[in-house]
Amino acid sequence: MEKVTMEKLTAVCKQYGFIYQGSEIYGGLSNTWDYGPLGVELKNNIKKAWWKKFVEEQKNIYGLDAAILMNPNVWVASGHVSSFSDPLIDCKKCKTRHRADKLIEDFTEGKETGDGWDNTKLEKFISDNKIKCPKCGSSDYTPIRQFNLLFETHIGVTEENENKVYLRGETCQGIFTNFKNVERSMRAKVPFGIGQIGKSFRNEITPGNFIFRTREFEQMELEFFCKPGTDLKWHDYFRSYCMDFLKLIGLKEENLRYRDHTKEELAFYSKATTDIEYNYPMGFGELWGIADRTDYDLKTHMEHSKEDLRYLDPETNEKYIPYVIEPSVGVDRLLLAVLTESYKEETLEDGTTREVMSFHPFLAPFKVAVLPLVKKFHSEKALEIYENLNKEFMCTYDETGNIGKRYRREDVAGTPYCLTVDDETLNNGTVTIRDRDTMEQITLKIEDVSDYIKDKLKI
Ligand code: ATP
Repeated sequence: MEKVTMEKLTAVCKQYGFIYQGSEIYGGLSNTWDYGPLGVELKNNIKKAWWKKFVEEQKNIYGLDAAILMNPNVWVASGHVSSFSDPLIDCKKCKTRHRADKLIEDFTEGKETGDGWDNTKLEKFISDNKIKCPKCGSSDYTPIRQFNLLFETHIGVTEENENKVYLRGETCQGIFTNFKNVERSMRAKVPFGIGQIGKSFRNEITPGNFIFRTREFEQMELEFFCKPGTDLKWHDYFRSYCMDFLKLIGLKEENLRYRDHTKEELAFYSKATTDIEYNYPMGFGELWGIADRTDYDLKTHMEHSKEDLRYLDPETNEKYIPYVIEPSVGVDRLLLAVLTESYKEETLEDGTTREVMSFHPFLAPFKVAVLPLVKKFHSEKALEIYENLNKEFMCTYDETGNIGKRYRREDVAGTPYCLTVDDETLNNGTVTIRDRDTMEQITLKIEDVSDYIKDKLKI
């Protein structure tokens, strides 16, 4: 099957209520996106799936929801104020702005990423290889400047320097600053983890590719604190665990791959980092980063805050700073992967075509569509069934148009089951359930529908 293009996916998302351009009636605000009625359900379900598998089902992982605005010293300590930057390069001819590392990555088709290179090395590679501006084809660039990605704002009424705060550039710093709180209040014993879902903000130089790279996005981050020396084992564990999670929610193995960072690419504090990449419409791109961050974060916060963030091992009485494994995934990037994987245009046996979103039922915005076959005769009973089922899971009700058209609407909304109410329902209390993917229908008693659907929603 041919891969969907980004243009097509963007158009489908708008047409069917998944994702709209932000501030559209004012001409938009570039690279901002609003999630519509179906998009917000899909997004919530993706977050629910992550929370279930990374927090709820884990005895030693706790949840957190930290503030977006934090004491600015957090960002000084983490190194973001001094070095959370991207290498910015301008084309002198057409004045477009680029990320020098991305120019190299695109030029070498991913063989070199430019990660960890200094400005001199990046400039030399670009000029030695005469890398062309993607817009105008010229190879005449300005020198590279480092551009800080943190968004600044001010607390209170005056815009003075001492009131300056940052919108968080990643959610994990709220986890590190609460390490001791969680350890004490939950009487947590290493190894344990803290998971969080929330918005992050980065003033990206080159946002784009729909929701792949935006300036406001959501992250699902887990910081897993373990004893030094056991860290590589845990890194390995989460590498597999994250991959298994992606397959569980319906991404195909052939569209996923690991990319282990080379020694040269590794951040200075990291012992091992693996990206899981997904085959997006524009090609493979980072979906999930799984990093062994050693004791860097707790150590730097300990130095800057002067708080003792060491862990006292109750068995050995030894005090140490735990090492951290961080699996970090973007909600929007995962949602884009789910959309890419799920959208299909199919030609049916009778020659007609249909568009379908084959989401895993757990992720589907609506689990069931309740459809009266003939409005005049069946809508009363259908509404009664809808009201009951809707108390258990998100359902939709549709009585307009012929049944074939209604099935098509539900196919592209990704609704896994259509429940049709007809004369049989009135006479014997049975309904037909149509499966979105196979389009096959079965007959069930009304009272059995709920258990049938519940069973399919399991992940
Ligand atoms: P990239 O190299 O693509 O800029 P990164 O390595 O800076 O990403 P991390 O800081 O490791 O990303 O962030 C963890 C995850 O958050 C990424 O794997 C990605 O899923 C998501 N993410 C990061 N930046 C963005 C963004 N600008 N828009 C959407 N999602 C993002």
